[in-house]
Amino acid sequence: MIMIFLGPPGSGKGTQAKSLAGQLGVPHISLGDLLRDEVKRGTEIGQQAKAHMAAGHLVPDELTIELAEKRISQSDCQKGFIFDGFPRSAAQADALDKMFAEKKLTLDRADDNAAAIRTRFEVYERSTRPLIEHYSKMGKLLEIDAARSIEAIGRDLAEIGRN
Ligand code: AMP
Repeated sequence: MIMIFLGPPGSGKGTQAKSLAGQLGVPHISLGDLLRDEVKRGTEIGQQAKAHMAAGHLVPDELTIELAEKRISQSDCQKGFIFDGFPRSAAQADALDKMFAEKKLTLDRADDNAAAIRTRFEVYERSTRPLIEHYSKMGKLLEIDAARSIEAIGRDLAEIGRN
């Protein structure tokens, strides 16, 4: 399973990427974490990246591409991996396409492309959402606020399961 998580800062993609990687048994590769490690160790890449990171700018593409390529070449990535925070620019995406072509790798979850996701939301609105009304009328609807941490949602579900 090879996946890329895209999303703005604070969208929770790091949390979800880490959790899913744990469930799938593949490495979670956060470019931010890799860069912070380089900075901490004072490597050549770390020294070059430090000021860009402190300012909230993207680190130059050639550095992140090199780090990403090295990481996915390691043996623990053979069964797949989840990229979190890479690619973050068109140049990085192009470089990743090239890496995948060279290594004969492909991204999984082809059904989750933008068009498929849109269709799935439309199908949900048309066919599935009306069931909320159906179960609500039966007095059988329990609602959960899913815009919270995985742990908080899990606690609520467990509570419902106990009752
Ligand atoms: P993050 O931990 O993902 O929020 O990343 C922290 C910082 O590392 C970002 O603000 C950027 O300066 C740098 N960074 C992380 N990933 C990338 C990337 N793919 N390309 C360039 N800079 C990155």
